[in-house]
Amino acid sequence: MSSFPLILSSPSGAGKTTIARELLRRRTDLGYSVSCTTRRPRPAESDGTDYFFLTREAFLAARERNEFAESADVHGDLYGTLRREVDRILAGGQHVVMDIDVQGARQLAGVYQESVLVFILPPDSRVLLERLKARGTESTGSLDRRLKSAIAELEAIRMYHYVVVNDALDRAVGAISEIVDVEDMRTSRIARLGERIGELVAGLEGELKNIQRSS
Ligand code: ADP
Ligand code: 5GP
Repeated sequence: MSSFPLILSSPSGAGKTTIARELLRRRTDLGYSVSCTTRRPRPAESDGTDYFFLTREAFLAARERNEFAESADVHGDLYGTLRREVDRILAGGQHVVMDIDVQGARQLAGVYQESVLVFILPPDSRVLLERLKARGTESTGSLDRRLKSAIAELEAIRMYHYVVVNDALDRAVGAISEIVDVEDMRTSRIARLGERIGELVAGLEGELKNIQRSS
């Protein structure tokens, strides 16, 4: 079975970070691509685990060196996915979970065409705002920017293969886990499919000969 990037996008506050964390806890066939950002760390975040926190100069220099598979300006900060992160996880045989915005998803799906794109929706607008406020990480200006980009991001939903509503966390994580299972069964992802079918056909031909001989 061949591994693929699993791209999760959503309006800020809909719960993709929480979902990604829970998916990684439940499944050993998933790895997380840690992104780079110029945004400041939130109180509970640590460098190298949640993000690689870079200065703007360091980010632009890495971009100049072509280290990013995609990068984008999101809510006024720069974010980017490192090629080496994605390739390391895929080479280890795991699917790569990424939490990226719609601009990044579009670029990444162009580079890794086997990507699976999942858009996560909040149950409704009131819940989204409540979750953003409850997280307590945004100033009023930042909240305003995030709601404006939420409206713009929703317009890109048709680019995604699947839509999952994050109502109850357990159900939403279960739904995305099922998507991974189903995608694993895609004909194009099955390892040695031709060889395995060849063996099956040879076996069936042998059985057929036995039946014909004994009749
Ligand atoms: P995002 O990464 O999409 O910006 P987060 O994962 O940070 O969103 O979630 C925003 C807030 O909503 C967090 O405080 C998180 O604990 C909470 N949250 C996420 N999913 C749910 C859910 N299904 N039910 C209730 N609260 C949730
Ligand atoms: P936050 O600042 O809340 O962690 O993330 C803000 C937005 O940036 C979210 O929509 C998140 O998906 C997106 N994001 C996080 N990492 C990346 C990345 O590497 N590339 C892109 N394009 N967006 C990212």
